[in-house]
Amino acid sequence: MNLKFNTEGLIPAIIQDATTKNVLMLGYMNADSFKITQDLKKVTFYSRSKGRLWTKGEESGNFLNVVDIKLDCDQDTLLIQAHPEGPTCHKGSDTCWDERNSPNFGFISHLENTIEERRSNATPEESYVASLFAKGINKLAQKVGEEAVEVVIEAKDSNDTLFLNESADLLFHYLMLLQAKGFRLEDIESVLKNREKK
Ligand code: AMP
Ligand code: ZN
Ligand code: ZN
Ligand code: ZN
Repeated sequence: MNLKFNTEGLIPAIIQDATTKNVLMLGYMNADSFKITQDLKKVTFYSRSKGRLWTKGEESGNFLNVVDIKLDCDQDTLLIQAHPEGPTCHKGSDTCWDERNSPNFGFISHLENTIEERRSNATPEESYVASLFAKGINKLAQKVGEEAVEVVIEAKDSNDTLFLNESADLLFHYLMLLQAKGFRLEDIESVLKNREKK
């Protein structure tokens, strides 16, 4: 890798969570800290304020375990994908921009947010989502059961369009049931991840 250091002998390194793809922090590396990062597989910066090499996590234990290192198009910026141990920011939050490092399921996460927004801000008259929440958790659970049965029926059939539509119904109502129980898809992801570890 042919790194282009700036006039101070430093190169910026964007640290990204390898799984969620969220940006965790930005720091600067010199040639030595870059070498250590590669060898140790723990993100190590040159701290301008400390005036020395700094392995992120050396005091807190919140190490950034390196998964992949990439250089950008003109070799002057590093993108380092890592698995963080604990919160990355010394102020205690997951990222240095005071964000939670939660997984992003793209449009499905957008849909979860919409459901949450309709649940708290809309009336049952104007919103299907609000009306289902108003009927209570048992009705919602029953609805998920019905949609699941419809998926089973369409799975036996050969009509892909019907199968996909019933699958969408099931997922949509399941997201509502999860929220009614106080959970989100990321909670289910955690359960699945923990199973994989065993
Ligand atoms: P740590 O490297 O996590 O053991 O933290 C050691 C010290 O480095 C902290 O007390 C802070 O001064 C500084 N520090 C840790 N994490 C960050 C960060 N994400 N951004 C800036 N400074 C940090
Ligand atoms: Zn560049
Ligand atoms: Zn920070
Ligand atoms: Zn349906």
